[in-house]
Amino acid sequence: MPKPQTTYDAIVIGAGIAGAAIVKSLKNNKISNFLVIDQGASEATKTSAHAEALCHPYIGRGASRLQRLTFMAFNEARHVWATSWRGDGVFHLPRTQDGFSKDLMSERLLSQGFSPEKAIPLSQAEALRMLNVNAGGTFFPEGGWVNIQQACQETFECVPSAQKRWSTEVAKIHYENGHWVVLDSQLEQIAITKRLFLANGLGAKKLANGLNVDLPLKPVRGQLSRFRFKSDTTWSTHIPKVALSGKAYCLPPSLVEKDCYEWVIGSTYNEGIDDLSRWPESDLENSSLMKEMLSLSSIEEELQAHSAFIGVRCVASDRLPIIGPVDGCPGLYTLISLGSRGVMWSALGSQMFTEHLAHEMAHSAFFDARFFAGARLAAAGLTADLAATLGAARFLAGASNSKLILPSG
Ligand SMILES: Cc1cc2nc3c(=O)[nH]c(=O)nc-3n(C[C@H](O)[C@H](O)[C@H](O)COP(=O)(O)OP(=O)(O)OC[C@H]3O[C@@H](n4cnc5c(N)ncnc54)[C@H](O)[C@@H]3O)c2cc1C
Repeated sequence: MPKPQTTYDAIVIGAGIAGAAIVKSLKNNKISNFLVIDQGASEATKTSAHAEALCHPYIGRGASRLQRLTFMAFNEARHVWATSWRGDGVFHLPRTQDGFSKDLMSERLLSQGFSPEKAIPLSQAEALRMLNVNAGGTFFPEGGWVNIQQACQETFECVPSAQKRWSTEVAKIHYENGHWVVLDSQLEQIAITKRLFLANGLGAKKLANGLNVDLPLKPVRGQLSRFRFKSDTTWSTHIPKVALSGKAYCLPPSLVEKDCYEWVIGSTYNEGIDDLSRWPESDLENSSLMKEMLSLSSIEEELQAHSAFIGVRCVASDRLPIIGPVDGCPGLYTLISLGSRGVMWSALGSQMFTEHLAHEMAHSAFFDARFFAGARLAAAGLTADLAATLGAARFLAGASNSKLILPSG
C-alpha cells in the first residue's frame, strides 16, 4: 500500500539553534502546519548542545559589512534569545595592548554607530579597578552569553510531538509538482512541503549537492574547556568580574564547591577537522591564551582541566552565514554556516525570515531570488548590499545576486 502523503506548509531540517530560529519565524507568521526533522534523539544534540555561547558586537576597522551586520544582529539576539541570556556585560580586549588608546577607541566606536553607554572604552587602570582585569579594552554592558541548548529546548518544547521527527536522517530532497519531497535514508518519503528550510549545518552540503548546488562549507572543530582552581591559588586573585573576549573568551569564574572555582575558557579553532574527542592540547591552548590575554605568564600552577564541550562549527569559505531563499529553488531557504557566531546569526536569520515570509504570504508567491525586508529591519540597517552578502547566490555561478526589496515609503 502506498503511504498517505503528508503535506506541510513548512519543513525544517535541523533542530539546533538555526532550526529553533526558523520555528520562531514560522510562528511569528502564524504558520502552524510545519514539521521539524533531526537525526539526533532530541533537539540540540550537536553543535548547539552548548550552554555558554558568548555574544557581543564586533569592532571593525571601519564600518565594514561584517561590522554593520553584527551591530544589527547583536540587537536582534538580545531580543530573540532574551530568556536564555546571561551575564552582566562583556569586556573585549584587543589582540595586543601596544598602541591601545582609550581616546582613539572612543572615536572609532562612535564612527561605527556605538552610543557611548553601549560601548565603553576603559584604560588599563580603569579596567583593573572596575573589572579586575589588567588590560585596556572595550566594555559592552549589554553583552553576555546564551545557553543555546536551553534556547532550543524552550523553543521545541512548544512544538507538538507529532510535528517533531527525531532520530530521522534526511538523505535526499527534490522538487516535484510545486512541492519539496523529503526522503529518509531508505529513500522512503517522509513528507512533502511548500517550504523547506535547511537548518542542518554541514548536513546541508550533501542535500544541496543533490540539487546541483555546491555550497562551500567546511567543518571547524572547537573545544571549550572547563577548568577548576582552588581559592588559595594565585589564579583566584585574577578573577575577572565579567565575561572576557579577545584571543580567547571566558565567562567569569563561579564557585562550584567550597574553595573551588570553575572557569569556562574557549575556544580552539581547528579548520577542516570534525573529531569530537577531547584533546588535552586544546585545554592547554585555551589556558595559555587566557594567560596571555591577562598577562599572567608568571603564574606557575596550571589550571586543572575538568571537562569540556567539543563541537564542530559549520563555516562557509567567506566566514559569513548563508541566510535566505536559494536562487532557482522556489520555497527552499537556508540558515546555515553560523560559524562561531551562532547566537547572533540565528537571531538575525529569525528576524529576516519573519519579515520575508510575511511578504511572501501577502503575495501568495515565492520570491526565490530576492529577500524582503520589512520596515523594522530596513530601519535597523538591513540594506540591499548586506542582504546580498548573506544570500546563497554569492556562491552560485550564474545566479543573479540576491536583491533586497525594501518596504515602500
Ligand atoms: C567550541 C565552540 C564554541 C562556540 N562558542 C560560541 C560562542 O561563544 N558564541 C556563539 O555565538 N557561537 C559559538 N559557537 C558556535 C555555535 O555553537 C554554532 O554556530 C551553533 O550551535 C550552530 O547551530 P546550528 O543549528 O547551525 O547547527 P547544529 O546545532 O549542529 O544543528 C544542526 C542539526 O541538524 C541535524 N542534521 C544535520 N544533517 C541532518 C540530516 N541530513 N537530517 C536530519 N538532521 C540533520 C543535526 O543532527 C543537528 O542537530 C561555538 C561553537 C563551538 C564548537
